[in-house]
Amino acid sequence: MELPKKYNPKEVESKWEKFWIERNLYQAGKDKDKKTFVIMMPPPNVTGMLHMGHVLNNTLQDMYARYKRMKGYDVLWLPGIDHAGIATQNVVEKELKKEGKSRFDLGREKFVERVYKWKEKYEDIIISQLRRLGCSCDWTRYRFTMDEKLSKAVLTAFVKLYEKGSIYKGKYIVNWCPRCETTLSDEEVEREEIEGKLYYIKYKIENEDEFITVATTRPETMLGDTAVAYHPSDQRYKKFKGKYAILPFIGRKLPIIEDEAVDPDFGTGAVKITPSHDPADFEIAKKHSLEFVTIMDTKGIINENGGEFKGLDRFEAREIIVKKLKEMGQLDKIEDYKINIGKCYRCDTIIEPYLSEQWFLKMKEMAKKAYEAGEKGEVKFHPS
Ligand SMILES: [Zn+2]
Repeated sequence: MELPKKYNPKEVESKWEKFWIERNLYQAGKDKDKKTFVIMMPPPNVTGMLHMGHVLNNTLQDMYARYKRMKGYDVLWLPGIDHAGIATQNVVEKELKKEGKSRFDLGREKFVERVYKWKEKYEDIIISQLRRLGCSCDWTRYRFTMDEKLSKAVLTAFVKLYEKGSIYKGKYIVNWCPRCETTLSDEEVEREEIEGKLYYIKYKIENEDEFITVATTRPETMLGDTAVAYHPSDQRYKKFKGKYAILPFIGRKLPIIEDEAVDPDFGTGAVKITPSHDPADFEIAKKHSLEFVTIMDTKGIINENGGEFKGLDRFEAREIIVKKLKEMGQLDKIEDYKINIGKCYRCDTIIEPYLSEQWFLKMKEMAKKAYEAGEKGEVKFHPS
């Protein structure tokens, strides 16, 4: 048994904790050669009852725990359940929907109460399922991920990583679900190819009678354009270099720039740059120090930066913008086009790439260590 080196029992306030630390130190001295084996049960989400996948993975853990015990190891298989934040919120919201209500009808306090009711119900079911499976866990140490001690551990880890510079905050383009009003990891976005449209929009060149035509699948995002770009090798647009295009509806002057990242074969070869609503445009904008204009709120409703379209839902705005462009003679054409959209895995809403301030964790160092452990054979994959 080895305790963390920095752990000072004198700093521990609770008698109970002190007792365990001293007991463990005593044991550690006594069983110097005794090997320990720990499995942290991946805590099942409290979103519902356990299914066949849980039966499989818990059986595997149980086999390992029992095998190691028979080999003379000190074994801890630590059980618990996961609050699963937004996923649980989502299942409770679905329940409410059946009653014709939303979480806003209940208010925060009542809604949290309702979520806890759900948690208690499924916690009981999950534990009895694990017990019936015969899981040989140490039930005295059972944990819920929102227990006070666990929250303290999370905070401690967070602060340590922050101080190390591994955790940082910044504005980046994230996958945003306007219904859940939350960020989704790439893993949580379900990609789908659908029949969409490619809209060709004419932007007037400042002080000239010429136009530059850009192609886009999401015309409503034009309200947040801050540049127009083409590939440096594209001779068709050289004459516009250093000039400005005028953004319809808003009147903003958009610098016409060159960037290697633009695909000359897409659409007309000239693209609108919308730094706050597109990951590729975000990178281009950083390189050229362009302006960032966010045109939607967290619910996907056009905000004050959208001028006359303020208050419209993003898809309503699309229709109206296209109609008005047509009337103004600035819609060149519309083509059928296969587009890749992302949907929220929880609620099926179309994801909006959105500029948002978030916490990030640098993975490079950690991934390197994990990779090395694999290379050295410390981690074994079965089957190989
Ligand atoms: Zn969602």
